[in-house]
Amino acid sequence: MTSVQEPRLRIAICGGGISGLALAVALSQVPDVNVQLYESAGRFREIGAGVMIWFRTWRILELLGVAEDFAKVANAPPTEERGIGFDYRRSDMAGEGFRFGLFELPYGCIRFHRAHFLGAFIANLPSNIAHFGKRLASYDDSASGPVSLHFGDGTSAECDLLVGCDGIKSSIRTAMLHAIARETGNAEVKSLGVPYWSGIIAYRGLIPTDKLVKDGKEHPAIATPIMYCGKSKHVVGYGISRGTVVNVITMNSHLDKEGTPYSEEWVTECSTEELLDCYAGWEDEVTDLLRHIEQPTKWGLHSIKPLPTYVHGSVALVGDSAHAMLPHQGAGSGQAIEDAYVLSRILSDPIVTKSSLSHALAAYDAVRRPKANAILVGSRKSGQMYEFDDEALGERYEDLGPAIVHMWDWLWEEDPEADAREALDKMHAAIRDGLS
Ligand SMILES: Cc1cc2nc3c(=O)[nH]c(=O)nc-3n(C[C@H](O)[C@H](O)[C@H](O)COP(=O)(O)OP(=O)(O)OC[C@H]3O[C@@H](n4cnc5c(N)ncnc54)[C@H](O)[C@@H]3O)c2cc1C
Repeated sequence: MTSVQEPRLRIAICGGGISGLALAVALSQVPDVNVQLYESAGRFREIGAGVMIWFRTWRILELLGVAEDFAKVANAPPTEERGIGFDYRRSDMAGEGFRFGLFELPYGCIRFHRAHFLGAFIANLPSNIAHFGKRLASYDDSASGPVSLHFGDGTSAECDLLVGCDGIKSSIRTAMLHAIARETGNAEVKSLGVPYWSGIIAYRGLIPTDKLVKDGKEHPAIATPIMYCGKSKHVVGYGISRGTVVNVITMNSHLDKEGTPYSEEWVTECSTEELLDCYAGWEDEVTDLLRHIEQPTKWGLHSIKPLPTYVHGSVALVGDSAHAMLPHQGAGSGQAIEDAYVLSRILSDPIVTKSSLSHALAAYDAVRRPKANAILVGSRKSGQMYEFDDEALGERYEDLGPAIVHMWDWLWEEDPEADAREALDKMHAAIRDGLS
């Protein structure tokens, strides 16, 4: 029998971004597991940019009992009312562009400053869980004993389950896929986890909204999330921080360069002139936004291929380490939070111990991987639709608008609670079969 002092499971989370924090908050609500979070940086940090989520993710925040803290820092307190997800305009023309699509849904587009979003998780994290300056250098996952963790600072630790929340450049994913390649003799599996350049360059920046009021008229992106679309390019603008700031992200796609090496650092600073040159000749509503970005950053957008598994031995992947995707459906963080919720629900079942852990991880993988991998693939396709590069749809606006909206259908599939129940059922069935 498990004593009070001895936790049912010791879980190590490596990486304290959105996925690691969401998982740590969810697992900290389970009384008989011990959770430790190891972050390589000296503190939790996020970039100065916006992040948006959809109602599925909001439901999880409610289920975790943390929604109130997020509501305080959302652009507006989220409600069930239908709101605009995105207003799609054709904009690569002088004068005035035009709307060709409108995506509306309950709760609309729920949006935050990233620092505030992370802060709401941090506010719900028990104080004795996080360890900073702990870059996981390697781990040993032997079938018989615990997982040994070795950090860059020379220290080590042990756990029963290691969860890789270490982002798109995940070293845990690399180690996992290398182990699978060794065991199966299939060397090709290793390349699936190597991030590749999408051929897309993104520019990002924030604008105080007082700069976006002209002749007493507010820029439309303050109130409405807008996607300004042009051939092989698009620009997204939406208000965050209670309407005091507009978040802008722009894309410049070179699809013929997809998979080629990206020659610069993934993220660099750039000039406003470079940004304006890229969208020269676009409608005024776009240039009015871009010229107010004082310190744009330039991103070589990378992705990974869909993985054949998110689990191996006593190790699981969550968030970008499992499914780093292009941002065209604003889904990466939401999917990370869905991973965290489903995994935490499975691990909270008292039936899960070291000896039954493999069934728990298999259930997590069976439920989450097909969904997140499908969104990873769909996000890439959505981006091509926004930029009139979808071969079948091109510039046929009457078909394109509905087809873009159709790409969001996954939002209405079984909700995260149903996913968690399905995973629990799968795990129980596997444990029963193992016993019979
Ligand atoms: C341009 C852009 C726009 C986006 N917009 C949206 C959006 O609007 N909505 C949305 O849902 N998603 C969006 N995303 C995706 C979203 O940002 C990511 O999916 C999300 O941040 C992933 O979180 P994560 O915790 O998995 O990874 P990360 O945020 O990368 O966190 C990884 C953490 O692990 C730490 N770490 C790394 N290696 C180690 C190690 N070896 N040991 C210990 N710690 C380590 C890092 O320091 C970091 O803190 C966007 C992405 C991009 C690129």
